[in-house]
Amino acid sequence: MKINLLVAGVALCCAMNTVAATSETSYLSYPTYSGEDLELSVDSSGTHWRLWSPLAEDVRLNIYNSGTNTPAVSTIDMTRSTGGTWTASVPEQLYGKFYTFSVKYDGKWLDETPGVWAKAVGLNGERAAIIDFSATNPEGWAEDHGPAISNITDAVIYEMHHRDMSMSPTSGIANKGKFLALTEPSTTNPTGESTGLDHLKDLGVTHVHILPSYDYNSVDEANLPANQYNWGYDPLNYNAPEGSYSTNPSDPSVRVKEMKEMVKTLHDNGIGVIMDVVYNHTADNDGSNFSLTAPGYYYRHRPDGSYSDASGCGNETASERQQMRDFIVNSVKYWAKEYHIDGFRFDLMAIHDTETMNAVAAALKEINPDIFVYGEGWTAGDSPLPVDQRALKENVSKMPQIAVFSDDIRDAVKGHYSDASDRGFATGKQGLEETVKIGIVGATAHPQVDYSKGNNSKFPYASAPTQVINYVSCHDDLMLTDKLRKSMPDATDAERQRAARLAQTIVFTSQGTPFLWSGEEIFRDKKGVHNSYKSPDSINAIDWNLKHQNAEQMEYYRQLIKLRKEHPAFRMTTTEQVAKHLKFDKGEPGLISYSLTDNANGDSWKEIKVIFNGNDSERYVNIPKGHWTIIAEDGRLNANGMGMTRGGKLKVPATSALILARTI
Ligand code: CA
Repeated sequence: MKINLLVAGVALCCAMNTVAATSETSYLSYPTYSGEDLELSVDSSGTHWRLWSPLAEDVRLNIYNSGTNTPAVSTIDMTRSTGGTWTASVPEQLYGKFYTFSVKYDGKWLDETPGVWAKAVGLNGERAAIIDFSATNPEGWAEDHGPAISNITDAVIYEMHHRDMSMSPTSGIANKGKFLALTEPSTTNPTGESTGLDHLKDLGVTHVHILPSYDYNSVDEANLPANQYNWGYDPLNYNAPEGSYSTNPSDPSVRVKEMKEMVKTLHDNGIGVIMDVVYNHTADNDGSNFSLTAPGYYYRHRPDGSYSDASGCGNETASERQQMRDFIVNSVKYWAKEYHIDGFRFDLMAIHDTETMNAVAAALKEINPDIFVYGEGWTAGDSPLPVDQRALKENVSKMPQIAVFSDDIRDAVKGHYSDASDRGFATGKQGLEETVKIGIVGATAHPQVDYSKGNNSKFPYASAPTQVINYVSCHDDLMLTDKLRKSMPDATDAERQRAARLAQTIVFTSQGTPFLWSGEEIFRDKKGVHNSYKSPDSINAIDWNLKHQNAEQMEYYRQLIKLRKEHPAFRMTTTEQVAKHLKFDKGEPGLISYSLTDNANGDSWKEIKVIFNGNDSERYVNIPKGHWTIIAEDGRLNANGMGMTRGGKLKVPATSALILARTI
């Protein structure tokens, strides 16, 4: 989701409901329970339930034979227990059954809920399911692991939606729109270029970042032939996979099994999996699983008792309360352990407090030090949470193991996200050089960067380049192709592709972690739709014929990723390293030039000279005499070099990068 109040990227009906006014301080007095046996556990002594609902007057457990539309086969009164929980047990292992809870609150029985900890669910996530998780593991799961990664800056992140990747007939993929799409090897477009999994390997990315894949609300799983599309920023069941991405949403084990198969196949091919998580709000207010188990507690409110709305989606959760904080921490731990997830991207992360985010990172690092966490360091509206406690971009120095998206480099390189026609450095707008430089140094303190001239940030907010994600577009807003079409209306697509190359060259050579939106490497578009959260596949699906038509663009991206992966100079990890080894030359309007010096970060190259000319006409630079290998020039790039130059006065053509390297 975006920093934009006007366009909330979710499908919601947001009646402004209120809960019985409970003061914020009274929530602090609720007993809490953080055990991992919440809601359901099955062992040799039977099946056990434990629901957290401190103010419930009564709680019932309803057991069903199916996930929807059948009467309860039994109803069990639950008993008040410790830590605000209610328990029930039966001596049998009820695998194959479904259940819900009914909570009596304030004299009324609330609607049934599968609870907040349903790890398997039936159709449309209405009822929780009791399944044997050990039977959902793919072969070799015990040995499965994601790519080893020392630092987040070694990652190359590819953001994607399951349907975008596979729905087009040109994908050659059989399991269209499913988790299984990424398990299919050797798929091709009609002209024989690789698609799907093999395309990811061809491109060289290290991680896919999958848009929400927990069970969300908007797509009717009972009517999959309708081919509904949604990004999924409308959480329903946080701890179960989305049914529409499985081949059978009615069978609770299938979605679990198929998501694991996707992770396993990606891991087997050296690619990690990052999940987009949206704990900051729920699809519904009074009808959410949070509200139906512990009314009011999980959300922040205004003084009048109405839901506060920093998400722009009708509500915001209250991570500062212990039971909600534990919920978030335990939920990501569960995904990391049960599904072997390698990273988490937090939507509207600044709705959460820094203490919660630090607890998230610490818990995940304990499971696997290679797991990393990043998020949107902003909210979509004001919040009762004090600014100094918010997990904002500006507060990221308080969260040493967390990274934030750099809107600095995003808006400076391609033009502002909210104004389609606005241009950026890469499309010929001058005056943005200092903000681009903030991006180049990964928003760290650098003696040659004047933060007072920054457009989006006025101080070096990152304590290290490992705290910044660099990008020029993502699922939100106009994707790069569409942005270039709208801001360069008189240009040809060839000229726009040249601008895209320059823009991404800035991103991929900058300190920090690079991130790209799926399909930019083959210049796909979304037909100018800036908020395609529920647009049809005709807007969102990647046309894989573009890989043939834009083969040179693809090759440029491939080489760019190769360059970054082979050269640690672009992946420094400390502010001190960057300040010492990254030296800017005197620039000029629309031109930035710098050197990475003295085998930076152990690089095999002694010096790398990087020059960006964003102007629409050529410029000349003076390069010290030496034995320089040409890596990038005039819109072409080859990580292995394209000939030599002795330096001197060199031309940098319009809208292009010049990258030179020397070993002596
Ligand atoms: Ca769903």
